[in-house]
Amino acid sequence: MASLFTEDFKTDPYWWEDVHNMALAGAALPSAADVVVIGSGYTGLNAALQTVRGGRSTLVLDAESAGWGCSTRNGGQISTSIKLTYDQLATRFNRRRASAILEEGNNALTWIERFVEEENIDCNFSVCGRFHAAHNPAAYKKLGNTLRTRTRGSRLEAHLVSRSDQRSELGTDAYHGGIVFPNHASLHPARYHTGLLRRAHEAGVSIHAHCPVSVIEKQGAGFRVISPNGSVTAGDVVVASNGYTGSITPWQRRRVIPIGSYMIATEPLADGVIDTLMPRNRICSDTRRMVYYYRPSPDRSRILFGGRVSHDETDTRQSGALLHRELKAIFPELAGARVSHSWMGFVAYTFDTLAHIGTHNGIHYAMGYCGSGVSMASYLGMRIGQQVLGDPEGKTGFDGLNFATRPLYTGNPWFLPYAIRYYKWRDRHSF
Ligand SMILES: Cc1cc2nc3c(=O)[nH]c(=O)nc-3n(C[C@H](O)[C@H](O)[C@H](O)COP(=O)(O)OP(=O)(O)OC[C@H]3O[C@@H](n4cnc5c(N)ncnc54)[C@H](O)[C@@H]3O)c2cc1C
Repeated sequence: MASLFTEDFKTDPYWWEDVHNMALAGAALPSAADVVVIGSGYTGLNAALQTVRGGRSTLVLDAESAGWGCSTRNGGQISTSIKLTYDQLATRFNRRRASAILEEGNNALTWIERFVEEENIDCNFSVCGRFHAAHNPAAYKKLGNTLRTRTRGSRLEAHLVSRSDQRSELGTDAYHGGIVFPNHASLHPARYHTGLLRRAHEAGVSIHAHCPVSVIEKQGAGFRVISPNGSVTAGDVVVASNGYTGSITPWQRRRVIPIGSYMIATEPLADGVIDTLMPRNRICSDTRRMVYYYRPSPDRSRILFGGRVSHDETDTRQSGALLHRELKAIFPELAGARVSHSWMGFVAYTFDTLAHIGTHNGIHYAMGYCGSGVSMASYLGMRIGQQVLGDPEGKTGFDGLNFATRPLYTGNPWFLPYAIRYYKWRDRHSF
């Protein structure tokens, strides 16, 4: 039997093929900085860009290479990142808060487009729109019913596409219609990260890779940040570790649930195949609770397909085979298309499915993007940077939300295997 994997199969992200991260100076850590940011993804670098441009000396530390976390591993799909509807938010909080949170979703979406343009970051940014497909007739009906409330209190546009018109969006009959969000966008996540890294570096941020922070301790009015590479005193500390949040910040760790998110890239497909399968070049996702999301590569030669196929960190050959099975179920003509890359990363969920930004015991944080952080991590990173500066512009619709945990939860999501099995069962049984 022919192998599912190409001869040059890689377990690194497809995106790393054409991105060569800047060589970062292996200089010794300075003994002091106004601001120390922990984590060099979209959150950390956007925060750092604000603080350095606001006149504060800024150091970014990452345990791995710069951008090693989700910020160079994701699908590059850009949405408002808010998973709850106006009605759900209004019931949970009040109408004002519901509108404010939804508005932040729109702000994040429009802000990232402007930011990429103003900073002149070459990252294949495109307002391509999203097709969100219904996995069964009931889900399509629900999309219709909720279209009004999805867009209520929000500037977001959307329209339904029936099953009979579906092939104008996607070359498959596997779905039962769907909804189009024309304002959603896509980019090359690693190129975006590299551009961000360059801008931060040019602005004077000092970025140190392979520098795992092991302790943050209070010192006078500020902090001492300790790593095996040395220690730094800092006026302010920003934690930007999202799905990789560890024991150095136990309060934040108790409030985020690390979940593995997995992706594959197909080998280059024959000419014309992508034009048939994804004629509008949109990003796609579906209504399953265990959502699958996919898109063409920026050069339209491959399909990049992702989902939460496993509850444990697993062999990415295994997750690759599971994702390929789902890809084939949607596009049977891809049964013979081999997998060239299969990779994963840890996203951070929260108990209320909302992102959180704030300060606890003097430590600033922004995290918990629940699997969609390209726009929101960038946007809240920028806002937390402004908050560090004391800039009133830094205010957000998320400020002051209770960042909840659960009794006995310390950061190890022991309940995930059960939850994932349950949701997969519900997806299969169509409700
Ligand atoms: C496979 C996959 C697909 C995804 N697809 C999408 C998508 O299509 N659209 C979307 O919007 N979102 C997507 N996401 C989510 C998105 O990538 C994240 O929400 C976003 O990148 C989070 O950025 P961040 O900067 O907060 O965290 P990250 O980019 O994860 O960075 C955190 C960094 O913190 C560092 N760190 C942790 N602890 C320490 C320490 N003690 N000392 C020093 N450094 C430390 C880590 O090394 C890491 O580099 C996806 C994620 C994955 C994994």
